[in-house]
Amino acid sequence: MFFKKTLRDVDVRGKRVLVRVDFNVSLTEDRNVLDDTRILASLPTIRHLISQGAKTIIITHLGRPKNYDAHLRVDPLAEALSRYIARPVRKLDRTVGEEVKKVIEIMKPGDVLMLENLRFHEEEKRNDPQFARELASLADIFVNDAFGTAHRAHASTVGVPKYLPAVAGFLLETEVVHLTKLLETPERPFYAVLGGNKIADKLGVISNFLNRVDELFLGGGMCFTFLKARGLNVGKSIVWDEYLEEAKRIMKEIEKGNSRCSLHLPLDFVLAPEISEVAESKVTTVENFYDDWMGLDIGPMTQKFYRDSLQEAKTIFWNGPMGVFEIEKFAAGTKMICETMAYSRGTTIVGGGDSDAALRRFGYSGLITFVSTGGGACLKFLEGEPLPGVESLLDATEVVKV
Ligand code: AMP
Repeated sequence: MFFKKTLRDVDVRGKRVLVRVDFNVSLTEDRNVLDDTRILASLPTIRHLISQGAKTIIITHLGRPKNYDAHLRVDPLAEALSRYIARPVRKLDRTVGEEVKKVIEIMKPGDVLMLENLRFHEEEKRNDPQFARELASLADIFVNDAFGTAHRAHASTVGVPKYLPAVAGFLLETEVVHLTKLLETPERPFYAVLGGNKIADKLGVISNFLNRVDELFLGGGMCFTFLKARGLNVGKSIVWDEYLEEAKRIMKEIEKGNSRCSLHLPLDFVLAPEISEVAESKVTTVENFYDDWMGLDIGPMTQKFYRDSLQEAKTIFWNGPMGVFEIEKFAAGTKMICETMAYSRGTTIVGGGDSDAALRRFGYSGLITFVSTGGGACLKFLEGEPLPGVESLLDATEVVKV
C-alpha cells in the first residue's frame, strides 16, 4: 500500500532530523492560529521524534510572501505547537545559515526548533539546488510530513531528498494509504460527490474516476459547465466556457458505455439574482432556469435523490461544496452531504479545503473516516498523478545510510 520508507524505518536517536510540515494555516488579524487542523495532524510525527530523542528541526511555509514579510513570520505556529506538545519550541528568525547551524549544534535530544518561513526565500519555490543543499546541511535525516505541499516540486519537498536520506512522516503516509485504497481497492459500491467552483481542479479527477467509481454525483458551481455542455440554459450561473469541450467529452465517454460509472447532475436548484444574504431566492427545475438568475445550491429534489442514493454506498469520496454554503440560504445541499457522510455506515473520505471547512461549520468533522489535509495534493493524487514530494522519498526497499 505504501512503497516508501517511513519514520518507522529509521533510527533517529540523537540525530538531527529536518521535518517538512505544512503548517500553512489561517491566522486571525492579531496573528493567532485560527485553524489548527494541520498542526494537530503532524503531532504524531513530532511526538514520535521527541520520544525517540531526536533533535527536531521543523520547516514550513506560511502564506504566499514574495520574500520577507513580517506578517508571515512563523512565530504563532511555534507558539501553538509548543502548547500542543507541552514543551518549548524555539523559533529562529532565519531559515538557513551559520547562525542556524550554531543553534542546532547545541540542541539536546528531544529539543524542538522551528525555522523561519521557507517562502521568505524565493529559492524555495524555484527548487534552487543551492538552497536545498543549505537546508540539507542542517540535518542527518529528512522527514516529509507535508502532504498538503506534496504536489509541489519545491526545494524543501524534492530538493532536500537529493542530499539527505528522506522518509515519510506519519501524516504523509496515512494520507497516501487512504487515497491509494480509494483508487485501488475501495469497498463497493464506491460513490463520489464533486462540487465547488474551480472545474479545472476537478476534471482530471472526474476522468480518472470514470473507471473507478460506481456513481458520480456533481454539484456546486462547476456542474453548470456540464449542464451548458448538454445544451441547457443556466442563466447567469458560473460557467467555465474553456472547459465545455472537455465536459462534453466526458459525458460522451459515459454515454458510449466506456466508463464504469454513471454521472448524475442536479435536477433542480436554489436560484438567486446575486450571491448575497439578502437576495430573493427561488427553487426551480433544471429545465426551467431563469435567464438573469444564478444557481447557488442544489434544490430539494436533488438533495433527496443524492441522499437516498448515497445510503447504498460502502465507500464515499466527497470534495467541493454543493452550493455557496457560506450563506445560510444556499447551504442546505452542502449540509445534507456532510450529514449523509457523517451517518454513512461505509468508509467516508473528504478531500480537504472547503469541504473540510463545511464539515466543521456544520459540526460533522469527527464523524468522517478520513479528512485529507491537502485539498490540492489530494485532488492531484486522485487524478492519478505522482506527487513529487512523495516520489522523492526513499523506496521501501532501499537501504538507509545515516
Ligand atoms: P472550490 O475551491 O473549487 O472547491 O470552490 C469552493 C467555492 O465554491 C465555495 O466558496 C463556494 O461558495 C463556491 N460555490 C459552490 N457552489 C457555487 C455556485 N453554484 N455558484 C458559485 N459559487 C459556488
